[in-house]
Amino acid sequence: MKVEANKVVQFHYSLSDSDGNELENSKGSDPTAYLHGHKNMIPGLEKVMENRELGERFSAVVAAKDGYGERVEGSEQRIPIKHLMVPKKARLKTGMTVPVQTDNGARHVTIIKVGKFNVDVDTNHPLAGIDLHYDIEVVDIRDASAEEQSHGHAHGVGGHHH
Ligand code: ZN
Repeated sequence: MKVEANKVVQFHYSLSDSDGNELENSKGSDPTAYLHGHKNMIPGLEKVMENRELGERFSAVVAAKDGYGERVEGSEQRIPIKHLMVPKKARLKTGMTVPVQTDNGARHVTIIKVGKFNVDVDTNHPLAGIDLHYDIEVVDIRDASAEEQSHGHAHGVGGHHH
């Protein structure tokens, strides 16, 4: 079975930047599961997964523009600390990535300066502007259920629970 539209794919991965610094990996947790062909993943990742076989291990580079986008300059904002979705007594530090409540739901921002009542943040995605170097192992491929196809996402291990 191959990775194609309407398959639920599970994979393990590690993600590094162009300098070889590891940014994320799925070691020690469930593999990531997603429904292929439904824009559940960044476009570049869906593209490199296409037609991969069960058990296949491969490396692929996804350019920033096909990943989390290029960095947008002028994306600094001053926001009240109370708008951050962090525990009340959290110690905020420069460089931390924190969720913030917006009209469009939670999004992650990076703290660039901490004040008494406000923080200055960069609203670029933390992975914006980074060419993404993936090492991937495809650990499961199965047909999506009719329910998953109508919801547009995978259910079960590594997927959505509701
Ligand atoms: Zn669902």
